[in-house]
Amino acid sequence: MTMQRRRFLRSAGLGLPGLAVLSSSCDEQSSGKAVHQPRRTEVVVVGAGVSGLSAARHLADRGRRVTVLEARDRIGGRVWTSRQWPGMPLDMGASWIHGVDGNPITDLAEMAGARTVVTDPGSSTDYLADGRKAEGAQAEALQRRMTDTADALSTYQDEATRDAPVRKVVQRALGWSGLSASAKTFVSYALNDYEHEYSGSVDQMSALYFNDEAKANGKDVLFPGGYGAVPDYLAKGLSVHTGQVVKQVAWNSSGVTVTTGKATYQAEYVVVTLPLGVLQSGAVKFVPGLPAAKLTAIGKLGMGVLDKCYLRFPKVFWPDTDWLTYVPDLDRYGQWEQWINIARPTGRPVLLGFNAATFGRTIEGWSDAQIVDSAMHTLRTIFGASIPTPTGHQITRWASDPYARGSYSFYKVGSTPATRDQLAARVGDRVHFAGEATSRRNFATVHGAYLSGIRAAKEISG
Ligand SMILES: Cc1cc2nc3c(=O)[nH]c(=O)nc-3n(C[C@H](O)[C@H](O)[C@H](O)COP(=O)(O)OP(=O)(O)OC[C@H]3O[C@@H](n4cnc5c(N)ncnc54)[C@H](O)[C@@H]3O)c2cc1C
Repeated sequence: MTMQRRRFLRSAGLGLPGLAVLSSSCDEQSSGKAVHQPRRTEVVVVGAGVSGLSAARHLADRGRRVTVLEARDRIGGRVWTSRQWPGMPLDMGASWIHGVDGNPITDLAEMAGARTVVTDPGSSTDYLADGRKAEGAQAEALQRRMTDTADALSTYQDEATRDAPVRKVVQRALGWSGLSASAKTFVSYALNDYEHEYSGSVDQMSALYFNDEAKANGKDVLFPGGYGAVPDYLAKGLSVHTGQVVKQVAWNSSGVTVTTGKATYQAEYVVVTLPLGVLQSGAVKFVPGLPAAKLTAIGKLGMGVLDKCYLRFPKVFWPDTDWLTYVPDLDRYGQWEQWINIARPTGRPVLLGFNAATFGRTIEGWSDAQIVDSAMHTLRTIFGASIPTPTGHQITRWASDPYARGSYSFYKVGSTPATRDQLAARVGDRVHFAGEATSRRNFATVHGAYLSGIRAAKEISG
């Protein structure tokens, strides 16, 4: 999630991965041949993202024997700090604690000794399609169209009973066909803002429920040293087996058997924290099959895309605001509209460009060079042809990632808050579900993932 706060405003330090009991070894690796003896534990948690780690932490703290199985060779899932550039940690997944007041991640960050820096949604320089700054009447017109868009949606939520996609509702309410070309670009910018925040396409996103969530209180902060400090802290002392790609979850009255590509685990309970996109892909088999209500929920919710492109330059050539935004022409809808000035929190000459929904998904198929060229086209439009070329880049492709299959969940037309409850519901008394998508109030966030893990753990521990 990136922009919600901004739109509304304008209208123990020990967290090192090595301290978790990470184990990528398995019997067949150490002995050279496969060993079929199942491993026994009390609870298997599938996935070492924030929801899985919070479930495991809660259970382990209450004396349960827990094993966390993680497909990747790292923990954290969609909280992932890249350390590719020495001395310059970069968050490739979540960036912010959205609303620090009353947010459980605030306390965890403090306990982890992680430094946080406030970003101000009001600190923004906005540019028009031709690269000029949006100032005076143009800035007012842009703000007005953003407010009109928000008003159209809240009126619809107050009055409508039938759901419809966000774009349709807004365009109908604002009399799209009668709007001037510049009004259309401003409304389109506003629509893409929702795509950045909620990750789904406005052609699919539910106008009735897209923002059915708990309101965040307080400022937004990000982690100059990396958000990864939070999962690292949570994982301390837990038994996490990395490199274990779960293929099958089977259960019956006597227990649960979880099969990975390398080993079999037997337990009393399993907590499944697979991302919605992975559940939708069918990559993990459930035996017996999941109940119809669960399958319907998996199918109805949307898994969206928000991707990041970090560009590193020899020097800063952009203004000293937290945000830079760009309003492209209609034929470049959704392209490179939102940028974060990483120089502000870190002092390093780095820009972070976001792309969401349809355009975000499209460019995942491009090469890195094509993506950087496309980003530079926008930056040159704004800052001129003489700006330096980047000296490095780091690019995410969350939709193509087999262990995420998207960035975070959104309400697709046809889904409702009850759909998330169905996704969260346990199956029998052995198979439990957590993860951001199961959170009715805090979906698409780190704190939602964290709280969902505790909810699932409490189903087991009482
Ligand atoms: C680009 C981006 C920006 C974001 N920005 C923010 C933000 O600023 N603030 C915020 O609060 N939230 C943000 N989010 C959302 C937030 O990151 C997620 O909601 C949260 O991290 C999800 O945690 P989770 O435990 O539900 O899922 P995950 O973190 O995805 O954990 C699931 C785990 O399961 C593992 N797994 C998958 N398949 C298998 C398998 N077959 N076997 C074993 N393990 C498997 C995965 O590798 C992963 O580690 C952002 C997300 C993205 C992608």
